[in-house]
Amino acid sequence: MVAPFKNEPFTDFTRPDAREAFEEALERVDGELGRTYTNVIDGERVSSASFVETHDPSDPSIVVGRFPLATAEDARRAVEAADDAFPAWADTPWADRAHLLFELADRLRRDKHYYSAWMVREVGKNWAEADGDTAEAIDFCEYYAREALRYAKGLPVVQTEDHNECHYIPLGVGAIIAPWNFPLAILCGMTVAALVTGNTVVVKPAEPSLTIGRKFFELLEQVGFPRGVASFVAGQGRVAGAEMVAHPRTRFVAFTGSKEVGLRLAEQCGRTVPGQRWIKRLVAEMGGKDGIVVDANADLDAAAAGIVASAFGFQGQKCSACSRAIVVASVYDAVLEKVIARTKALKVGDPSDPTTNVGPVTGKDQFDKILEYIELGRKEGRVVAGGGRAGDVGYFIEPTIVADVPPTGRLAQEEIFGPVLAFIKAADWKDALDIANNTEFGLTGAVYSKDANHLAEAKKRFYVGNLYLNRKCTGALVGAHPFGGYDMSGTCSKAGGPDYLGLFLQQKSIATRRI
Ligand code: NAD
Repeated sequence: MVAPFKNEPFTDFTRPDAREAFEEALERVDGELGRTYTNVIDGERVSSASFVETHDPSDPSIVVGRFPLATAEDARRAVEAADDAFPAWADTPWADRAHLLFELADRLRRDKHYYSAWMVREVGKNWAEADGDTAEAIDFCEYYAREALRYAKGLPVVQTEDHNECHYIPLGVGAIIAPWNFPLAILCGMTVAALVTGNTVVVKPAEPSLTIGRKFFELLEQVGFPRGVASFVAGQGRVAGAEMVAHPRTRFVAFTGSKEVGLRLAEQCGRTVPGQRWIKRLVAEMGGKDGIVVDANADLDAAAAGIVASAFGFQGQKCSACSRAIVVASVYDAVLEKVIARTKALKVGDPSDPTTNVGPVTGKDQFDKILEYIELGRKEGRVVAGGGRAGDVGYFIEPTIVADVPPTGRLAQEEIFGPVLAFIKAADWKDALDIANNTEFGLTGAVYSKDANHLAEAKKRFYVGNLYLNRKCTGALVGAHPFGGYDMSGTCSKAGGPDYLGLFLQQKSIATRRI
């Protein structure tokens, strides 16, 4: 009997024992920095002629991990191994597959701070953000294992003169292509959903977070996923990733990342290559340009707190981050002032220091791009907080607010993916909702209001996959807030929800004549 699903609690870092345990985990990780890893293809450790390194964004001179760069040929072999392993894995009972996810959750839980500490070093998450990422990975394992046991029962169908059944069966080989911003949770979620439903996979983490991806892969091996069922390739998106998607034996692609890459994959999945016998399925979670609307009668302090937490948590590098505060004119100045005050109180610095709120952005390209957007902000609006680099070492950027941004300006329309918040003035409630909906994305959004009619209208008209009323627009919880958006935010796959595993399955109806 499996206990009902419960979200993994976040660590209370006000407790001295928790702080001490996290410090120890950081030391352990520091002792492992700079190691050289391998790819894992069909259960075998595979090296390469050229190597890539990942770096600590707080101090890029520190090498976190060193990886053989997977070639297109490596990716090809991994897909073929996964295809060979597919029939036996597809025949493995659902309960046995679910059991491996429960085991994975246990192991992640047992060594939780170790995985979180890798995220502090490799992508610059602060303690609480890293802890949240690990907790979400545990939740995905626990939740999808239970969901698999439900899907195992098949679908209820009407009985006739025949005995009728309808079962779920897996698809085949999946290319798992992950982003670096939730380097454990999202990689883990997409991978275990595909595996528990009987598919086999090739796992490709994003280039800046290869070590975390590799640590997760080691766990897959330890809990006993059979050889070839999952392979690991540390490759570039446009080389190894592209080959994984293009291979005729790949049956589906589970992708989380930018709009630009997601659209390219959609085209590629639609192109049939010689030897391909199916239409490739694409599950894509893409970018966002998420807005928080503040209504005239809202609790302005709660709104300011929600805006700051959503805009600057993990340096604004969340697809759900608030990058637009859309405030009704009568309270615009008051909200702006409160948000500036809270933003200026944030501590920017090394995320291994537990008092840090805002760490570095994750890479050099990201750093340069965000600074360019801040310069654009000086033209499109008024920079009223932050506005530049922080410190001399590392990719630190001050949390930045640009006021009076026009709703159609680039700062109000393009995903920046950094600690930059655009403030937009709306004439009234109706105008605010129109502005909120006026982007090509539709991922998350929030409304702060005490007007029941306005909240009811937002439920109907605010066109986002994840809407939050009188709370921040980040922090979706597995099971509670199925996550994923509309339009250019992706295929609305609703990770962590009851329909998610269905995306990795097809159905088979069987009618048996009663004799
Ligand atoms: P990205 O699109 O640059 O990369 C994502 C992955 O795609 C990486 O593993 C990369 O190597 C791979 N890739 C790149 N080119 C490829 C190609 N031609 N073929 C195959 N694979 C390729 O995104 P990122 O910078 O890693 O992540 C940030 C983006 O992810 C943001 O846009 C963010 O909004 C989005 N995101 C969305 C969600 C969501 O749930 N909607 C969650 C997290 C992040």
